[in-house]
Amino acid sequence: MYAGLSRPRGPGDTAGMRQPHSRPHPERRRLLQLLAIGPAALALGWRARAASAAGVAAPLLAPRALSMVSTHTGEQLAIRYYENGQYLPAALQRLNHLLRDHRTGAVTSMDPALFDRLYVLAQCAQCDAHYEIISGYRSPATNEMLRETGGGGVALHSLHMEGRAIDVRLGRTSCSRLRDLALAQQAGGVGYYAKSDFVHLDTGRVRAWTG
Ligand SMILES: [Zn+2]
Repeated sequence: MYAGLSRPRGPGDTAGMRQPHSRPHPERRRLLQLLAIGPAALALGWRARAASAAGVAAPLLAPRALSMVSTHTGEQLAIRYYENGQYLPAALQRLNHLLRDHRTGAVTSMDPALFDRLYVLAQCAQCDAHYEIISGYRSPATNEMLRETGGGGVALHSLHMEGRAIDVRLGRTSCSRLRDLALAQQAGGVGYYAKSDFVHLDTGRVRAWTG
């Protein structure tokens, strides 16, 4: 779990983080996972603040915000969804609403870890967390319809139906770079759709594919 954080890093590295009995809180563990960096990430030039143990506390408590525009409805939202160490329910509701199934209007509770993926990715890309949303939640009916008419690429048990997947573009960051940064996170699935120019991200198993 601490693979990306336990390498010798100089003055900021503290032995305390590596003590096996200090099991991290689930939230802390999840962010550590998101912020974990490997050689690939370093090769991409990512200088994560959490590369040292001393840098971990600040990102855990720092406010997190996202900005989104739905490519289907044109709705926009810029909102802080996390502060003082906790998620903000009202903000999550507004994000869930924007990410609803635009065909049926159905809303679900999106996995907050997905929002953290987006937030951290923008930090890695060193840009504002402004995302174009191609797809968020999909009701089972919509997923089935897309499977029948979409020409492939839509999974039978899509994580979109669980509120654990999102298809996005990030500001002026190219989708190929977004894909590379997402792969370096090792924090879930990454699908790269070059032709349609978007990246699928989810909080499922670590895996990658090209659409
Ligand atoms: Zn997707």
